[in-house]
Amino acid sequence: MPSEALLNTPHHSLICPVCAWRTDDDGLLLDCPGAHERALLQVEYRARRFTPDPARTGLFRYRDWLPVRREFPEAGGTVTYRSTGLAGSLRLRDLWIAFNGYWPERACALETGTFKELEAFCVLARLPDDPPPLVLSSAGNTAAAFAVLASRYRVPCVIVVPASGLGTLALREPLAPCVRLVALEQADYSDAILFADALSGALGGALEGGTRNVARRAGLATVLLSAIEAMPGMPDFYFQAVGSGAGAIGVHEAARRLVDAGTGQVPPRLMLCQNAFPAPLYDAWRGNRPRQAAPSAPLRAFAPELTNRHPPYAASGGVRDCLVESGGDLMIADHAAADAARDLFADVEHIDIEPAAAVAVACLREAVGDGTVPRDATVLLNITGGGRRRIAQHAALSPADPVTVVPAADWHAGELPTDLLRTCAVLR
Ligand SMILES: [Zn+2]
Repeated sequence: MPSEALLNTPHHSLICPVCAWRTDDDGLLLDCPGAHERALLQVEYRARRFTPDPARTGLFRYRDWLPVRREFPEAGGTVTYRSTGLAGSLRLRDLWIAFNGYWPERACALETGTFKELEAFCVLARLPDDPPPLVLSSAGNTAAAFAVLASRYRVPCVIVVPASGLGTLALREPLAPCVRLVALEQADYSDAILFADALSGALGGALEGGTRNVARRAGLATVLLSAIEAMPGMPDFYFQAVGSGAGAIGVHEAARRLVDAGTGQVPPRLMLCQNAFPAPLYDAWRGNRPRQAAPSAPLRAFAPELTNRHPPYAASGGVRDCLVESGGDLMIADHAAADAARDLFADVEHIDIEPAAAVAVACLREAVGDGTVPRDATVLLNITGGGRRRIAQHAALSPADPVTVVPAADWHAGELPTDLLRTCAVLR
């Protein structure tokens, strides 16, 4: 991994919230070995105070509170500003937008267009030297971020995506030979997660682990750390679209850390947003049985990355715990509301946003409309991705080529194609 600066001493350790087991961070560990209920490992940092590095502008500005052993100084970060356009339209007095994506006029330069780039930088910065191949799954945006960064820093990496997600994988540069993209025919995000688990085991790779990876959550949590530097205090409400909830959990963990450090009184209420259907987290929170699609519902969710069927809802430290602790709620927005919200945002904030971010804007609009959010509340809205049109204007993009497309019959049968194992095994 070139162009990195090694940090001198470990500045954090990992703790299990259930049995209080504590360990040094090997850069790969995902779970406590204790035989107990599922739990998300927590990070304890030596630095108890919030001390951004004034010499940095991107996410490594917060390296004291990141579980990393190296940094990439050129990494971008979130840009937070006080809204006038959307705030005026919704008649909200104090709305702040945490923008993640590509927006040169606001000095926001996440080149793959979403906050998944924050998690990718942080996960790569946590890895040990000479790591085994990193195996991960994605609905599209995480794949794009890891494809670009693993190629640039020459990290061996296998990325599993549903074939339907290949369309969003347009990159400026070709994949490096150490990065293998695997597409699954007729699969969804949840299928890709299960396939990546099996592939990682067969290869002896390091499963990236999604929400279980402390670096993924910490990278996404820099959204709040960036916002708290721009805002006069902690927001009352935090709005974000969620699939697995990794970003929202990370933000809640960071909010608790900020409160402990004396920055703010209480964590913001998490207002988490999903498509109207399917909405696995929303259904779990409401105690709904999984619902059937309405006959008139579109075949594809407005934002497919929000449809993870196995999110860490009930795990200790998972989505349910964060919602209960913060007094938060889960909301849904249908196609028409999300579409209208995307147009509204483009009209009043003058930038295109990703479908998931549009779902969050639609839910905020509804929550203000029905009085859930008072008009004088301080609200932080996470625009998790945007500026894709600007990226296309500024750079020539080419589709990323998968090393193989696994037929539906094969992955349904739980088979790992021999050719695929051979081509990925050379990464070791
Ligand atoms: Zn434990």
